Amino acid sequence: MSMLKEIYEKHKPNPKIKAVRLYGKAKQKFRVGVAKIANEFCKCGTYAPANLENGSFDVFRCGHLSHIKSYGAGGGDALDNVEWKCYNCHMLGEDGHLAWKSDKKEREL
Ligand SMILES: [Zn+2]
Repeated sequence: MSMLKEIYEKHKPNPKIKAVRLYGKAKQKFRVGVAKIANEFCKCGTYAPANLENGSFDVFRCGHLSHIKSYGAGGGDALDNVEWKCYNCHMLGEDGHLAWKSDKKEREL
């Protein structure tokens, strides 16, 4: 029994590295920062500002912070795990990244 336990301890999956998840003001700052890096444009060429001119957010017209690896999959709020997307691109698939890839494939055909 103890030997089995030893083997288990040696080969058990590594504990998940906790991804950074931002909330409130920190999340807002991060979101606006990602939007600025993308010049407030989605990859598809659609203008997707972080907020409207009056400072409000419109789900259809404003840009979305899209996670390449979702929170559920262990992804976090890190620059290398997010993309700035317009509503359409973010909503194309559950996994926005996949949607982008399939879009690329279509254009290659
Ligand atoms: Zn787009």
